[in-house]
Amino acid sequence: MARHSQKPLSHYFPNQYDDEDAPKRGTFEYAKKWEPLAPRCTGHYRAPLSVGPGKVLVTSYRAAVPEHYLGPQPDGGIYLAEQWLKRIGMIGTGIITGLRHPTVYIDWPDMTAPHLRYAQLAVEWARERLDKGGAVEIACVGGHGRTGTLTACLAVSYGHKPAEAIEYVRKGVCESCIETKSQKEFIHNFKRMRRE
Ligand SMILES: [Zn+2]
Repeated sequence: MARHSQKPLSHYFPNQYDDEDAPKRGTFEYAKKWEPLAPRCTGHYRAPLSVGPGKVLVTSYRAAVPEHYLGPQPDGGIYLAEQWLKRIGMIGTGIITGLRHPTVYIDWPDMTAPHLRYAQLAVEWARERLDKGGAVEIACVGGHGRTGTLTACLAVSYGHKPAEAIEYVRKGVCESCIETKSQKEFIHNFKRMRRE
C-alpha cells in the first residue's frame, strides 16, 4: 500500500535518502526508528537559535501562536510541510501570501530526509538572509524532524561538524529535534556533498 494517499511531488524527483521502508506510525517498528530523546513536546513558535551571523526561528505548525507575540520577526521563511501551503497562501489565494515575509515551500514527506538538491537550495536561500544577520523561520508540523534536519544542515554550512550540529540544535532548541536515522545520515551526507 502506498504511504501517501496522493502522489507527493517528490515522486517525480526520486529521493535517494528517503526511507523507502519507513514503518507506519503507531507500530513498534516505527517507535524503534524514531529517536525519542525527550517526551514529545507540544511545539515551538519562533524559537530562536543563532546560526552563523543570523538566527533560525524554529516553528511548529501545531504550536499555538502567542496572542501578543513580541519576539523576533523573520526576514524569510522555509516551510517543509504541506499544511503550510494554505497558511502561506500558495493554495487558494494564488499570489497573495498570508505571511509578510518571503517564503519558500519544499516538498518533504514527514519522517524522511529531503532531496539533496532541495536542501542545498534551501540552505543557500536561508544563508542570503543569515549572512546579513537576518532571521529565517523554518517550520514543519512538529518543528523537530524536518525543521531540525534543515537547521542542522545550515549549522554544517557554517562550519559545524555534523554530530556537533545535531547536538547544537538539540541543546539549543529541543531534544526531540532530528527524528530518524535517515535524517541523521542526511546531515552527514550533506556535509560530504558540500562544495566549499
Ligand atoms: Zn520540541
